[in-house]
Amino acid sequence: MSQIKTEVESANAAYAGSFDKGDLALPPARGFLILTCMDARLDPAKYAGLAEGDAHVVRNAGGRASDDAIRSMVISHKLLGTREWFVIHHTDCGMLFFDDDTMGNLLAGSLETAELTDEGFRNASEPGGSPEGHFIKWHCIKEQEQSVVEDVQRIRAHPLVNPAIPIYGYVYDVKTGKLIEVEAATDAGQPVL
Ligand SMILES: [Zn+2]
Repeated sequence: MSQIKTEVESANAAYAGSFDKGDLALPPARGFLILTCMDARLDPAKYAGLAEGDAHVVRNAGGRASDDAIRSMVISHKLLGTREWFVIHHTDCGMLFFDDDTMGNLLAGSLETAELTDEGFRNASEPGGSPEGHFIKWHCIKEQEQSVVEDVQRIRAHPLVNPAIPIYGYVYDVKTGKLIEVEAATDAGQPVL
């Protein structure tokens, strides 16, 4: 059996053994949502002080305001009552190190994991992959703070987003654990009353 599968199942047995959160309500108790990156170094429960049942956390590559992220956010407010939203990108994000053309070319060359070199991601060998990568928008990041501003602006302007919801923008520093507010993003995310 996979070592990781064994570890996950064993960790869950220990967690469930002392589980006492079975009575939590479905809507998040503290009424807020975080959109953030899937990066393994980010733990929103720790960096933002969340316990089970407190808040919604939507994660994807980059913490980008993709159509699917916005789908979750609209459900979060419309059906489950969140009233404040945070968009949190981070330093050293993998999404800074490639663009759509690069990703399309990498996948066309090989489906195996690429290497991150000083010149960006590279295939170790190119036995052939699939051209499908050229048809996907990967939501890469060119400039870190600007990406937070753009995502907050997109969410703010979305016709299905309640204009009364404040949206705050941050960059999480993976070296210090600190959340640094992007004021231009938070300004762009002010409620429209
Ligand atoms: Zn990231």
